[in-house]
Amino acid sequence: MTQKQGGEFSRRSFLKGLAVGGSALASTAMLAGCSKEVGATSTLPEKWDYEADFVVLGMGAGGMTAAAWAAKDGASVIALEKGKSQLESSSAVSAWEFVTAGTSTQKEQGIEDSPEKFLKYFQDNSPEGFQKFDMIDVFLPTSLMLYEWLLSLGVECAGIKTWPGMDQPRLHTLGAAKPIAVLFDQCQQNGVQVLFETPGKKLITKDNRVVGVEAEYQGSVVYVKANKGVLLANGGFEGNPEMLYAYHGYLPSLRKPAGTTNNTGDGFKMAWALGAATEDAWIAPPPAVAFATAKGTAYGFYHAGGILVNKKGQRFVNESETHTVEANALAVQPDGIAYVISDSVQKSDPIAEITWQRQESQNGVCYQADTLEDLAAQIGIDPVALVETVNKYNALVDAGADTDFGRDHVLVANEKSPLMKIETGPFYSFAVMAANFPTEMGLVIDPNARVYDVWGNPIEGLYATGLMGNIGIKYPPEPRTLPAITGAMVFGYQAAKYVVAQPAWDAE
Ligand SMILES: Cc1cc2nc3c(=O)[nH]c(=O)nc-3n(C[C@H](O)[C@H](O)[C@H](O)COP(=O)(O)OP(=O)(O)OC[C@H]3O[C@@H](n4cnc5c(N)ncnc54)[C@H](O)[C@@H]3O)c2cc1C
Repeated sequence: MTQKQGGEFSRRSFLKGLAVGGSALASTAMLAGCSKEVGATSTLPEKWDYEADFVVLGMGAGGMTAAAWAAKDGASVIALEKGKSQLESSSAVSAWEFVTAGTSTQKEQGIEDSPEKFLKYFQDNSPEGFQKFDMIDVFLPTSLMLYEWLLSLGVECAGIKTWPGMDQPRLHTLGAAKPIAVLFDQCQQNGVQVLFETPGKKLITKDNRVVGVEAEYQGSVVYVKANKGVLLANGGFEGNPEMLYAYHGYLPSLRKPAGTTNNTGDGFKMAWALGAATEDAWIAPPPAVAFATAKGTAYGFYHAGGILVNKKGQRFVNESETHTVEANALAVQPDGIAYVISDSVQKSDPIAEITWQRQESQNGVCYQADTLEDLAAQIGIDPVALVETVNKYNALVDAGADTDFGRDHVLVANEKSPLMKIETGPFYSFAVMAANFPTEMGLVIDPNARVYDVWGNPIEGLYATGLMGNIGIKYPPEPRTLPAITGAMVFGYQAAKYVVAQPAWDAE
């Protein structure tokens, strides 16, 4: 890598330069650089600017759940968020396929499921040592409780999906807009104080215990005292190419995040400075087919029946494959760009609608036309080639077999259905590219989300969830963390419950 990317890399390059030709000027510059560094310090501030029982870093699904529940339980809570609003997280552009079992929605749809059945699925399908069953024991009842809590607050389920290999449909598609609005509202109603544009920079310790956070607000340093605990809910490192390169290699480091660019691994650097342990570094972020002009994944749209074409107007993959297969095929198309082509019937699918709205709400570029020729002209691809491709696809659907790429189903409201023709205008399109899902490596945590050091001891006062804390529950046998958004909420909730019950570190 030759370019400067991220603070860590800049600093290392800088130190190398210093070793070669150190000077007074360079030393001054280094001190200035250090003041912005992310890590930990045992120097207590002369004065705390803010104080709360619980200090939460990051306002994604994990942070907001933790903050809202701790405040509901009577704790004072301050949340520090790097972005300008709660809409900058990966949670805010996630598909929100919420994984749990035994829900009222499953019952309504005649799906016989329960936490016990889900546990049996894990037991029957996980090789020895693959799962953390103490985390699963907490995850099963808490995820169910949190799902019903979200529904009680007005969140709706658009469909329930079965993950390949799973014995029951358990992925409840909620879409991001409503859950994010509801969680933020819960934070506000319960009196959480939120400081936006305030990235946490350093954990502050006293007698080996985390007692506060040094943060930056509009270029100034602010000190936030945490009487009972600090939660790292500040995302993974999918927005940090150097960390991606270091932990997952060259190809993932080239891809942009499908979610937020704010997640630059700050929480890792802060916790590592205290000796925190990390695990599941072997799970690289899987590639995703993402909007090219907004944040978020696009598969919910074309899985409902549309196709993907490259800049030459040609199909190149089975559009009902996994994101990984689709994204890898997309990455080698001209300019790494493809276009979704769908008709109005396919767009009216509830999951497709959620996906379309997610990109529209971020001002992503969307195309709509009454004819395919017009659509092609808007996008800038050859109309003759596009019409030929769609006619060929429709003929394959009529013949009952996609002999070109082997597509054998589409998803209607997340349920497998026969292929359908693209024929009822208006027609819709947007550009997509291969991106990274968030990173999955995380700090070692226990069922109460306490962070552990490399010697196996809890770091007093420090908690982690979501992309920061390793939940350790995977889709057997796939190397992927199963309950991403659900896990962020579950262990954020667990941290909140545990922290609220702790004494303040400086209590008499
Ligand atoms: C496009 C997409 C689709 C997805 N679909 C699904 C799905 O359907 N189901 C599922 O289970 N999972 C899905 N995921 C994964 C899931 O969204 C994440 O696992 C989940 O959002 C993680 O939540 P979080 O709270 O840990 O992180 P985030 O939601 O990313 O929140 C982290 C927050 O921390 C902030 N931050 C960063 N650094 C700092 C700092 N130093 N100080 C303060 N704040 C900071 C960031 O700005 C951000 O707001 C998807 C992810 C993406 C990107």
